[in-house]
Amino acid sequence: MAEQRKLIRVVVDGHLCVGAGMCVASHPEFFAMQPDGHAAYVAGTLNEAAALEAEELCPVSAIQLIYQD
Ligand code: SF4
Repeated sequence: MAEQRKLIRVVVDGHLCVGAGMCVASHPEFFAMQPDGHAAYVAGTLNEAAALEAEELCPVSAIQLIYQD
């Protein structure tokens, strides 16, 4: 049986993010641009499907999904 991994965080690496805004454009309910010009995951609840899609769209692979061990 496939093991169910639990998503615990969605992280945007501020060093990699170039502020392209793909994540915000695709999922404005979960991602928002910050004053420093980088995006952040801002929703109070974790949406794995949206985060995975944003991860794929990000041109510099700055979005990381963190799962519980
Ligand atoms: S898509 Fe990637 S580079 Fe663009 S704002 Fe989002 S995290 Fe930053």
